[in-house]
Amino acid sequence: MYKIEIRDFEKKYLIEEMIKIFLRPDEYRLTDEDADIIFNVGSSQDKNLIKREVYNKLSALVKELPPWGILTGIRPVKLWGETFESLKNRDLARKYMRETYLIQEEKLDLIENIYDYQIKACGYAREDRVSVYIGIPFCPTRCLYCSFVSNQKSDSEIERYFIALLKEIRAVGSMLKASGKSVESLYIGGGTPTSLNAKQLDTLLSTVHKSFPMEECLEITVEGGRPDTINYDKLSALKDNKVDRISINPQTMKNETLDIIGRSHSVEMIINAFELAHTIGFKSINGDLIAGLPLETTEDFKSSIERLHALGPDNITVHCLAVKRASRLVDVDKDYHYKQSRVVDSMLKTGRELLSSEGYKPYYLYRQKHMAGAFENTGYCLDDKIGIYNIRIMDEHMDIVSLGAGGISKAYYPEENRLERIPNVSNYEEYINRVDEMIERKRKGMFDRR
Ligand code: SF4
Repeated sequence: MYKIEIRDFEKKYLIEEMIKIFLRPDEYRLTDEDADIIFNVGSSQDKNLIKREVYNKLSALVKELPPWGILTGIRPVKLWGETFESLKNRDLARKYMRETYLIQEEKLDLIENIYDYQIKACGYAREDRVSVYIGIPFCPTRCLYCSFVSNQKSDSEIERYFIALLKEIRAVGSMLKASGKSVESLYIGGGTPTSLNAKQLDTLLSTVHKSFPMEECLEITVEGGRPDTINYDKLSALKDNKVDRISINPQTMKNETLDIIGRSHSVEMIINAFELAHTIGFKSINGDLIAGLPLETTEDFKSSIERLHALGPDNITVHCLAVKRASRLVDVDKDYHYKQSRVVDSMLKTGRELLSSEGYKPYYLYRQKHMAGAFENTGYCLDDKIGIYNIRIMDEHMDIVSLGAGGISKAYYPEENRLERIPNVSNYEEYINRVDEMIERKRKGMFDRR
């Protein structure tokens, strides 16, 4: 157990974030006396300077060089874009990122390539466009690692929520029409949106088409998420309402792991859901996988990628397991992700090589706190079939209008390059009771601001 002192710096949690990349919680404690390791002896108030000191000392101690250096932010591609655009020179931007954040070349290449790819594929965000998110906070069961808003409720409770949601869609849609802006991309996520029945999905999407300015919309995504909620009638309802992109998320193609993580579906059901989606004919199908699930090896992960690829997805999104406070996994083993960092590193490398050999390119990337090995989540695509919504929310240069329980709208102020958050309540019952207030929040924070 190392005793570590962080001297004369008020926001110690910022520095501790860095320590946690190298040491598990049972390997160190912070102290003010008799420390084995002291950081910031020179009493600097420059957080990056102290973080670099932590990185250099602890990487020598544990003999590991985390590839993102001292960067703990979740949007490295956005940071690269802003740095490059302000310095107007690639070499200078790389030098700045390397020296300030100690990011390794491999990751600099990755974010530079992704940024270039995004600009080529969908250009810069336009001020007269918005991204829209609609949340359906219900799932058939709760996954072991889940930290999202996810409720397991009866059909009648889902219907009560659904009615409140339609009210918000109609009200916010008419405000958006009056603002003169139009929808660039729409994402229906959750939870599991296909927890709704086929009739509800049809009503939801037709209400969206009637209420929102959708004429210029380039992409509508619905997260099928759980294969156990997908059937022919639901997918047909999506297709009939101009949904182009759906997500069917296996997370793993190993039945034993699916049982452990509490997903009430089998690999067989994943295969059937993909076949159905191909038959109905969506423009783009995404499949999510998670690296670092309990008891999985690199071989298991490789086999999941191969089996998922065989199902013909246009996008594959590779997440790293993150153990957040709200998840059940944290009760089982709160240090789980610390133990997993080596295996996740090897899974990600294997995944990258395999996907690249099959023609998939990385097109968006983000990081999360509490993520195994402090790595990244990466979305890969075939044939330029990007998910525009994913790019825009990570880029944060556009208004994001979020509806439903847990939705966080973001009003973008271009002059100051900043976002203001306008949250909805996350509890679905509160949302039902307070939907008028949620509508008013958006009116004030987003539509009456100029
Ligand atoms: S499907 Fe997603 S939102 Fe639903 S319980 Fe699992 S992790 Fe949570």
